[in-house]
Amino acid sequence: MKLIMLGAPGAGKGSQAKVLSDKYGIPHISTGDIFRANIKEGTELGKKAKKYMDQGLLVPDELVCDLVVDRIKQSDCANGFILDGFPRTIPQAESLDAALDQIDEAMDFAIDLEVADEVIVDRMGGRRACLKCGATYHLINMKPQKDGICDRCGEALVLRDDDKPETVKKRLTVYHDQTKPLIEYYRKKGILKEFDGTKLPQEVTNDIIRMLGE
Ligand code: AMP
Repeated sequence: MKLIMLGAPGAGKGSQAKVLSDKYGIPHISTGDIFRANIKEGTELGKKAKKYMDQGLLVPDELVCDLVVDRIKQSDCANGFILDGFPRTIPQAESLDAALDQIDEAMDFAIDLEVADEVIVDRMGGRRACLKCGATYHLINMKPQKDGICDRCGEALVLRDDDKPETVKKRLTVYHDQTKPLIEYYRKKGILKEFDGTKLPQEVTNDIIRMLGE
């Protein structure tokens, strides 16, 4: 099963992708997590990506596409994968399709989580992330067991620079301009599935699983 998670930043793509990845036993590939890991390790890619991420801008397509295409060719992706945060532009979607086309494959579904901008701004101010393992939490609706500490790895949780309010507003503008056209792109391909992302996370998961099958 090859899935794409679509939706504005903060719509719940990462949280849903993690649950679906566990349920279906397929890797969760988050380009945001890959960039953050590179920033933490101080790689050249991380240094380049950080300049854009801190401003709420998209990292240029040429830094993203090869990275994802290489990742989905790895053996753990043989039974499928979940893309979270990629594609984010039409050229990225086209390069993904071209890469899959070469091996006679195609994406199965693009899962769009619909959430209004006002809700996103409120949500993201409460988001807390673990920079060590990539887990994300929310101060109101997805609290860690111990305040400020990651359940998975015990690291201190932080408000990511790109989740700060001024950056969130910029990211939403970028989302509307560059990423939202993907909804029509996948609708035309007949693989778009839309979900109400304002429901409780568990309800959204149930809605998606009902569509995908047990
Ligand atoms: P995310 O964690 O998916 O919200 O991504 C955080 C940031 O990483 C984004 O605001 C972008 O700056 C960058 N990023 C992640 N994925 C992509 C992508 N597919 N294309 C361009 N930039 C990306």
